[in-house]
Amino acid sequence: MNEPVTVIGLGPMGRAMTGALLDAGHPVTVWNRTASRADGVVARGAVLAASPAEAVRASEVVVLSLTDYQAMYDVLGPVEDLSGTVLVNLSSDSPETTRAAAAWAARRGARFLTGGVMVPAPVVGTPDAYVHYSGPWDVFAAHEETLRVIGVPHHMGTDPGLAQLHYQAGLDVFLTTLSAFLHGTALLGRAGVTAAEFAPWAARVLRLVVDLLPGAAEQVDADHHPGDLSTARMMGASAAHVLAASEEAGIDLGLPRAVKAHYDRAIAAGRGGDDWTSLVHGVRDPG
Ligand code: NDP
Repeated sequence: MNEPVTVIGLGPMGRAMTGALLDAGHPVTVWNRTASRADGVVARGAVLAASPAEAVRASEVVVLSLTDYQAMYDVLGPVEDLSGTVLVNLSSDSPETTRAAAAWAARRGARFLTGGVMVPAPVVGTPDAYVHYSGPWDVFAAHEETLRVIGVPHHMGTDPGLAQLHYQAGLDVFLTTLSAFLHGTALLGRAGVTAAEFAPWAARVLRLVVDLLPGAAEQVDADHHPGDLSTARMMGASAAHVLAASEEAGIDLGLPRAVKAHYDRAIAAGRGGDDWTSLVHGVRDPG
């Protein structure tokens, strides 16, 4: 029989996880602060527990999909017995908060995996879904196949904060890119160009970025920035032009100012002739 799973937290993510687990044949017990949010998954076969304690008792594996880690304390704090429970917290929060939660869980006798779901709710349970986990290897290995139902599981290391760091770093790229797309759209919008017209061109730029990443990563890791392709000085001039165009258009200047500042810092540090990858020094240590 597939192992039973409890899912606590039935926002879009928790509901999607519950649906995927049910489809895969797992007995699923659920609990949510607002009980009515369980109606859909209960109609599909999930069992609604009357309390968090009952939900925890129902399965060894307890998946948490909550707004943040404080919600975990709010829900599980009053539960007397967590011993033997495998808590899999897939909620977002800071790495330090996650590390403190791992210590809290250990004091309560629970084993603890932390995870960052790297895809939105509609993708959960599909082959495109993937989740970064960190925490004890043996706990991950013991439940890897169950966790695979939610998304392809990747164990990133034993430091409980690591999955969260991966999640934040991924979001860093994602959110900044989304804002950059909207900023470019606003810039072109001043000339009457629509977002739909810009989107395919923006996509070509993104594909270029994807192709650049492996080589750039090599240069960053080796701290070797030969300056034979795109120097910080040349790219910095382009960053200044983006800022000037934004000023002319009267649109928000926060993003282009931040980008130009990275180049200014590198040039001021004498790295103008290096490749743009040398900007990482100023990002790591803004001084
Ligand atoms: P929601 O905010 O929709 O759901 C959050 C859940 O947390 C709800 O069940 C809510 O209960 C519960 N909750 C919040 N605070 C408390 C509390 N103090 N006590 C008890 N329950 C509480 O979030 P999502 O489902 O969208 O996301 C869940 C997690 O997954 C988040 O950490 C999010 O960052 C992460 N994530 C989300 C993605 C997305 O695309 N949505 C993608 C990847 C990760 P109630 O129903 O009663 O309000």
